[in-house]
Amino acid sequence: MTETPAIGSPARTQAILNRYHLSAKKSLGQNFLTDLNTLVGIVDAAEITTNDNVIEIGPGIGSLTEQLAKRANKVVAYELDQNLLPVLDDTLHQYDNVKIINQDILKANLPEMIEKEFGDDKPIKVVANLPYYITTPIILSLLKGPVDFSKIVVMMQKEVADRLCAKTGVKAYSSLSVIVQYLHRVTVPMLVSRKSFIPSPNVDSAIVTLSSYDHRDVVAFNDKSFMGFVRGCFAHRRKTLWNNLQSVFGKSPETKEQIKAGLAQMEIDPGVRPERLTVSDFVKLANTYHQIGILK
Ligand code: SAM
Repeated sequence: MTETPAIGSPARTQAILNRYHLSAKKSLGQNFLTDLNTLVGIVDAAEITTNDNVIEIGPGIGSLTEQLAKRANKVVAYELDQNLLPVLDDTLHQYDNVKIINQDILKANLPEMIEKEFGDDKPIKVVANLPYYITTPIILSLLKGPVDFSKIVVMMQKEVADRLCAKTGVKAYSSLSVIVQYLHRVTVPMLVSRKSFIPSPNVDSAIVTLSSYDHRDVVAFNDKSFMGFVRGCFAHRRKTLWNNLQSVFGKSPETKEQIKAGLAQMEIDPGVRPERLTVSDFVKLANTYHQIGILK
């Protein structure tokens, strides 16, 4: 008896698309991954074992879901496209540890789902080949909490991956780099060619791993305020930090004095551009302004 090929093999993916008369919906970021090495590479990067519960975003026709189901305790996958539900029912019928939820991931109540579907204290990992049109909102919503994921391993367009891991001073360094690197250790274990997908997207991709720090040297007084502060500092990245800080806090003479005092305390030149500050500089500056009383 011959074994059924993996869902993510090019021939099986094409056969599934033909059988269900599916054409990939561009508006939903549907690019189906058809490279087994990459699919297994994603699961390896997430270090999935039977001790893990997994949340997948956008299972598509089930190619990554299948590889996850083979190794994880349970997989809950959020798929927005209703037309894919009967397909997933069929392709994943032999895996009894998979649950598909037909919902927009950005509207999902994850704590409620976790209690209902996982109901144990196994680590929870997020693994996905993301719909690229909403990469950043998804990453930010996962990082905002309240769920503390033990690992997030997601495929995204290479350009966004470059921003996530950019270091101080380079063009790709942005508020997203600072916020993500403050919260997580970021690595890029694998680059993926656009040719590994049906249909091919216009850009190459990268797998990004976000893992929690065991220890952080500097801790912001409040993560949410810190994120807002960093976004404000980068709002006009061609302008100086001094100008951006006035947009954040205000321009009254008293506020300007407080802004100056914070910069002086940190020995930061008001004329620098925001991209010259390290993640740790931003944390210390936010904490300084909190002590001064202008950042709540
Ligand atoms: N996991 C499959 C794979 O690797 O071949 C498909 C990945 S495809 C890049 C992205 C998937 O996300 C599509 O199935 C798409 O329908 C789904 N999707 C798009 N927007 C979504 C949303 N807001 N919430 C949940 N799923 C979404």
